[in-house]
Amino acid sequence: MTIRIAIIGYGKIAADQHVPAIHGDPRYELAAVATRQGDPAIGVPWFATPDEMFAAMPGGLDAVAICTPPSVRHSIGADALKAGLHVLLEKPPASTLGEMDDLGRLAARAGRALYAGWHSQHAAGVAGAKAALAGERIAALDIRWFEDVRKWHPGQQWIWEPGGFGVFDPGINALSIATRILPMPLFVRSARLVVPSGRQAPIAADLDFGDRLAARFDWRHRDGEQWTISVMTEMGKKVELRSGGAHFTIDGAEQAVEPRGEYPSIYDRFADLVANGASEVDGEPLRIVADAFLVGRRETTEPFE
Ligand code: NAP
Repeated sequence: MTIRIAIIGYGKIAADQHVPAIHGDPRYELAAVATRQGDPAIGVPWFATPDEMFAAMPGGLDAVAICTPPSVRHSIGADALKAGLHVLLEKPPASTLGEMDDLGRLAARAGRALYAGWHSQHAAGVAGAKAALAGERIAALDIRWFEDVRKWHPGQQWIWEPGGFGVFDPGINALSIATRILPMPLFVRSARLVVPSGRQAPIAADLDFGDRLAARFDWRHRDGEQWTISVMTEMGKKVELRSGGAHFTIDGAEQAVEPRGEYPSIYDRFADLVANGASEVDGEPLRIVADAFLVGRRETTEPFE
């Protein structure tokens, strides 16, 4: 069965990753797009709102990929499930834990697949790093997720709004990997959130999970990007993921990885879930960010323009 899928929210990630992944997988047919800024002219029917699309295409869609900012994910996802569609959520799956849980309940009630796709969990080195750490006791964790917000989020205002996540928008990618590869849960013991004057969301954050486990996120990094996760086991083995999880080393030695792309892998998993009417929503990365906002100490820094 071909999965007739519509994209909702046609911005950077929809154009860069979702469209090529859908076109590259014969199990899918891109059937429509709903986005507010006008017809993106990608050869499928365009609708200004998801509601108009659902009303205009009864029986013409099987699934949607929701690629909007997270603040509207819950209401759009709920409407799609009520319309009988399977739902793929961009990361993070919702603005709040409550919204995420509600989508899970709605999917179960509707008997439709709900998949919270964390693209970084599909990075080439993640499965190998997880296997290398299985059954180990962890002595130290050092996450460094540094990039330039102007390069990676040009002109995006929603990231600074309440529910926009600020530097946790990329930082949650690191947390999605860490929670996937570590053999134990992480708990935020303290956090420092650095918020530009006049903005609502942090431009930098430090998370302390206790016991030499820590993460640092910073959007003010001008000199390329650093997306690394280093883990030291009690037995002295060092496992390191670099380039956002694309490469990994054990004790400095580069390891072979599965060269599959992150988004093709997401669509592969979603097709399985659709075929089985099953759901997969990993809430751990969002739980950690929510905890950081709960216990974090806020510092104001210079305005971001
Ligand atoms: P973006 O470029 O700002 O695109 C978001 C799109 O959603 C815009 O076209 C926006 O249209 C549209 N939209 C907003 N509200 C909508 C609604 N109610 N109905 C339909 N369309 C709506 O943002 P992005 O970078 O693609 O990020 C979107 C999501 O993908 C975020 O959760 C982000 O974390 C995730 N992501 C992004 C990247 C990346 O490299 N950028 C990578 C991985 C994941 P308007 O312009 O009209 O508001």
